[in-house]
Amino acid sequence: AQLYRVDGWGAPFFKINSRGNMAVRPYGAKTAPNDEIDLMDTVHKIVASQDNITMPLIIRFPDILKNRMDTLQAAFDRGITRQRYAGRFQGVFPVKCNPDRYLIEEIVSHGRRINFGLEAGSKPELLMVMAAMCNASTTAFLICNGYKDAEYVKMALAARSIGLNTVIVLEQLEELDIVIKMSKQLQIRPVIGVRAKLSTKHAGHWGETSGEKGKFGLSTSEIVQVVKRLRKVDMSDCLQLLHFHIGSQIPSLSIVREGVSEAAHIFCELALMGANMKVIDIGGGLGVDYDGTHSSSSDMSIGYNMEEYAETVVEAIKEATIQKNVSQPTLCCESGRALVSHHSVLVFDVLSAHKNGGSACDRGVSYNIDGLPEALAYLRDDLVRSVDDGDHECILTCAKKLKYESTRLFKQGLLGLEARAAIDELFEIVSVFVDQKESDANMDQNGCGDRPGSHKASSDYYTTYHINLSIFKSIPDSWAIGQLFPIVPLHRLEAEPTERVILSDLTCDSDGKVTTFIGNDKPGAETAKHLPVHELEGDKPYYMGMFLGGAYQEVLGSLHNLFGNPHVIHVVPSKSAGGFRISKFLRGQNLANVLCAMNHEPHLMFENLKERVDGYLDGTYEKEITAETLMSSFTSYTYLAPERSCAFQLNKSF
Ligand code: PLP
Repeated sequence: AQLYRVDGWGAPFFKINSRGNMAVRPYGAKTAPNDEIDLMDTVHKIVASQDNITMPLIIRFPDILKNRMDTLQAAFDRGITRQRYAGRFQGVFPVKCNPDRYLIEEIVSHGRRINFGLEAGSKPELLMVMAAMCNASTTAFLICNGYKDAEYVKMALAARSIGLNTVIVLEQLEELDIVIKMSKQLQIRPVIGVRAKLSTKHAGHWGETSGEKGKFGLSTSEIVQVVKRLRKVDMSDCLQLLHFHIGSQIPSLSIVREGVSEAAHIFCELALMGANMKVIDIGGGLGVDYDGTHSSSSDMSIGYNMEEYAETVVEAIKEATIQKNVSQPTLCCESGRALVSHHSVLVFDVLSAHKNGGSACDRGVSYNIDGLPEALAYLRDDLVRSVDDGDHECILTCAKKLKYESTRLFKQGLLGLEARAAIDELFEIVSVFVDQKESDANMDQNGCGDRPGSHKASSDYYTTYHINLSIFKSIPDSWAIGQLFPIVPLHRLEAEPTERVILSDLTCDSDGKVTTFIGNDKPGAETAKHLPVHELEGDKPYYMGMFLGGAYQEVLGSLHNLFGNPHVIHVVPSKSAGGFRISKFLRGQNLANVLCAMNHEPHLMFENLKERVDGYLDGTYEKEITAETLMSSFTSYTYLAPERSCAFQLNKSF
């Protein structure tokens, strides 16, 4: 567990169980041992229950989502009680984080009891949110953020007219005229909010949206103009909400406090200017501890928990309202990442391994290097002498010279391919030998062993694991912004890992790889360049999981190389079904689906191909078999289906 820091980022939802498998605790800290779900059992069960199912797949745990919603609500409720705050808390989920239909339905249905609402940032999101919120509590907020045109505003007003508690939040001054005009035209009184551009900024990657030069929101002078304009048209009562968003993944409570205080003072001033202020919406930003270090100095971590976050928010708003003698507003928050990251696990398998250097050590040099050209023979003899002397630095220097010279001669056509390959192999062997000797010497000096698999820690040698996945589809933030996600083998964790790997995906793109992992070389290190894993065992599957990817990854994922959406399964605990059951299975995209997404028409494509088959092939059998192959390929999964002799080692109880 220490190697992957599971306790740091995973508690209370993920752990390594006594079978050496990754396990899920769906009710968090309240999970009884019998309710823990073994992820390998889940994979075996889905494989056994569906025809032709191969990796990758996304496993969703709706109970984790509900737990996160309840924990957020409880944190604010406790903060409100402790601070004797007069207002209440009502969360909204920003659907851009993960607009999956079933996730939204779950949030609405579980949120009814606690008046949980939704936030939209575009017209399609608004339509989706309107339909979903017909089943929400009537007081739940429907927050309309994002840039707006007349059509957007009309939709939002229609939402208000059917009793949805809709607030149109102005992102730009220009939107005010549209709202005034459309509400008059449709004779629907709007509830308006303003998004404030705060001076508070956070320095992390996600802080770009914050500060006075941030992309969104109104400056203080624009906010004052809004109040004056509304007063002029007798609509001051419509302005009821102040919104701000400092940026995602806020690292520390001091930034939360600074931003919330600034916003709370704007809120109070608006109330004092005559606006009908009732709600302060603190946006998103509640972070996730991706690297498990609980540190406020890393982009990938946060130095606080939900409870402390809520307490800080309540306290800062309370202080401002007391100072300015203004009624304490309802608190709304648009937490996305913190709500949905944990509930989904991406499972993928490893297709093959490629040793980057060092493999010649196992194989030996495959060519007789006696007959080298004179210049190279001379360098080879130098190398042999340095090995006899045992001076490691000199050995490496000689090996490098030999490799350099052989490459140079090859480029001039003066050396054959086999001789060059032999020298490359010799170089690998010598480098590993030197590295090993130095590592042994370090161990003798320090009197302590390195971590397993790290005897090559100072060398360039590592293995590439080819994974059945597209980074661009399933972990896009890893490629786009270098975000770190916990990646852990799902099984064999009772055994020490012996390999250090990077992960390379299926796409024909050199960026399609993961090369940054949770720090495992030294205790407390933030990141590591290699992931410790187990050696592949013949054609037995090796499963890995990417955790905390429930926010943004699915919706940001692209169709690069036309790898489509993975299968999705929903898993819930069940006493009667041996611990858990699969409550939903949503098949991933097939070839026809992804081709359609690019405007191709699979039936026309097939007709075209069929015509070609009929014209090109002679035999009836050949025609039939080829047409059948082509036909069935349209409905196949976009990922690879590895040939495995023992299939998936099905657990007989499923
Ligand atoms: N609200 C707004 C306006 C946002 O821009 C964002 C994300 O950037 C969110 C809420 C969600 O933020 P997070 O996922 O960090 O909670």
